[in-house]
Amino acid sequence: MILLARRGVLGCALCLLAAPAARALEWTGPIAQGGFVSGRAVPGTRISLDGTAVRVGRGGEFAFGFGRDARPESALVVTPPRGKAETRKLSVAKRAWLEQPISGLPQGMVTPPPETLERIGQERERVRAARRHDTDEPLFAKGFIWPATGRISGVYGSRRILNGQPRAPHLGVDVARPTGTPVLAAAPGIVRLAEPDLYFQGGTVILDHGHGVSSSYLHLSRIDVALGQRVDQSQPIAAIGATGRVTGPHLHFEIGWLGIPVDPQTALPPMPES
Ligand SMILES: [Zn+2]
Repeated sequence: MILLARRGVLGCALCLLAAPAARALEWTGPIAQGGFVSGRAVPGTRISLDGTAVRVGRGGEFAFGFGRDARPESALVVTPPRGKAETRKLSVAKRAWLEQPISGLPQGMVTPPPETLERIGQERERVRAARRHDTDEPLFAKGFIWPATGRISGVYGSRRILNGQPRAPHLGVDVARPTGTPVLAAAPGIVRLAEPDLYFQGGTVILDHGHGVSSSYLHLSRIDVALGQRVDQSQPIAAIGATGRVTGPHLHFEIGWLGIPVDPQTALPPMPES
């Protein structure tokens, strides 16, 4: 369950600072571990977060995010057009993560056999590259929709214990639906990866939403888009499946900023009641 308010938290935090440069920003999304933030600045404003440049669109659109283990304080530097840089310290709220034991996985999916390690390494690099496009087009600014609706069977950040062995945390949200259920593009985007069979991820599509913002769709049974293709928000792009490291059919959905996975539930409206 997500208890973070999605709107207002950041805007208010900045309003209280009452600094002219900061007041020139409006945004939604929590300043918290896993938080995804998107907003608008006065066009021509320059922004950086902890030394990383935040791309600002011609209409002032920007986005940034905080990783699961983000430190308690971040520095946001805002330089208005013809103004001087102002640094604001942001308090990044700490979150508590669930522990999720999963058993019954084939052992090769928990500890991959040595002969698969080269393949897994190459796939990891391709996925990483696909999530790091910094396209100068704010396709994320329209906001995100759920790519599939249904029961949430896994949340962001949880510590995973696979067949009794601790593994990397879960950095997406899982939606349990039968194989064949359509998967919709969460926002307008450009297809940067469309692979039918990655070792862990199975059938995978990655969309580029501009400014380093990406969305990823895993364990697909079918892919309906091609590399480089442009898609509209809510356009069907694939079908849910049970490919890769899974115990049953579901969609694993991720949102990232410059390759940092953020909590999709901080970027999405509440899951609709079914
Ligand atoms: Zn998942």
